[in-house]
Amino acid sequence: MILFKDAQKILDDTPVKTETEMVGLDKVLGRILAQDVISTINMPPFNKSAMDGYALISGDKSERFEIIETIPAGKVPQKKVRKGECAKVMTGGIVPEGADRVIKTELTVEKGGFMTMTGEETNKNVCTAGEDIQKGDRVLDKGIRIRPQEAGVLASVGLARVKVYQKPRVGVLSTGTEIVSPGKNINPSQIYDSNSYSLSAQVLRSGAELSGYKMVRDKPDKIRKAVSDFLSQCDVLIISGGVSMGDYDYVPSVLKKLGFKLHFEKVAIKPGKPTVFASKGYQYVFGVPGNPVSSFVVFELFVRPFFLRMMGHKYEPLWISGLLEKGIQRRKTHRDSYIPVEHKKGSIKTLPYHGSAHIHALTKANALLCIPRGEKEFKTGKKVHVRPI
Ligand code: AMP
Ligand code: MG
Repeated sequence: MILFKDAQKILDDTPVKTETEMVGLDKVLGRILAQDVISTINMPPFNKSAMDGYALISGDKSERFEIIETIPAGKVPQKKVRKGECAKVMTGGIVPEGADRVIKTELTVEKGGFMTMTGEETNKNVCTAGEDIQKGDRVLDKGIRIRPQEAGVLASVGLARVKVYQKPRVGVLSTGTEIVSPGKNINPSQIYDSNSYSLSAQVLRSGAELSGYKMVRDKPDKIRKAVSDFLSQCDVLIISGGVSMGDYDYVPSVLKKLGFKLHFEKVAIKPGKPTVFASKGYQYVFGVPGNPVSSFVVFELFVRPFFLRMMGHKYEPLWISGLLEKGIQRRKTHRDSYIPVEHKKGSIKTLPYHGSAHIHALTKANALLCIPRGEKEFKTGKKVHVRPI
């Protein structure tokens, strides 16, 4: 059995091959940027009015201002504003030469081609050319994960396509003679296959590509064929079940027979002890325990960060801190325990949880709390850090 950090180091040190592709902006969500993005323009590109109002010269104390033109957004002004003059300008319109502030419409009256101010304000209401982004600025860094706001930035600097890392193609294979596809009838010794669906959803949520999912019985030759079939079309295969000490747990031996190197087979975490990581060239297999909470947790701890590494991104989980609502004790302390919790307004609440088969507990949880090896107790009110799920 190896420690969590040693397993993590093995995964971090495993060579991966990253490849890139160009994608249009409507396909960038969740992708990892494979280039720095340098702006070729200023944002805003011109001195822009932040209000509907009248552009004039600061400090011009004229009683009334002659309106020399109207400037809707999208129009280039034709005239220069001088003392005693103003230009009527709409939000997003160019503030004309000469003018350096905009008096908002609410503080004015307009009559017979003249504007008179009815109130004072200190705001200039002008967004200066280049105040948000300067031409030549690096606006986004290679390796970041693209969220909606980054998609917006890419578009605002005029890029229609961008270079991103290719997604790893991932297969999900659920082993177990007792598991049955949802929608079918089950007999008293059988259970529904939930891992195919939770793992597939985790694959998609991580930003990787799901090649497909399949169930296989606990038969070495069947498992071997299913693994080979997946590996002819995938970069990574996640196999659930069949990795423990039972008489029908064939996954490690099948992987060895197929020429895979097993880097670890047991990790000091709970749930998730019998976790397998194997590789052959640039193909990888994760063997995760069949209990649904175990497979879920192992994916979050090891598989997701590895997928992101394959896509050129250094994954850092977001840790949220809070105060433990009720103390936790445990007897055995030789593994890191991950417990489903609910984080709410700075408070961490443990939930009814019966162990690694209790997938329903995860539906009430929004984070995992880790009790590290060696710790017997977390007292009520302790400040802890949890990892959102
Ligand atoms: P295993 O890791 O194969 O020993 O399985 C551990 C437990 O998880 C057993 O109770 C299995 O029935 C259950 N299990 C295995 N695979 C699945 C699956 N795909 N969906 C739901 N439960 C599973
Ligand atoms: Mg099994």
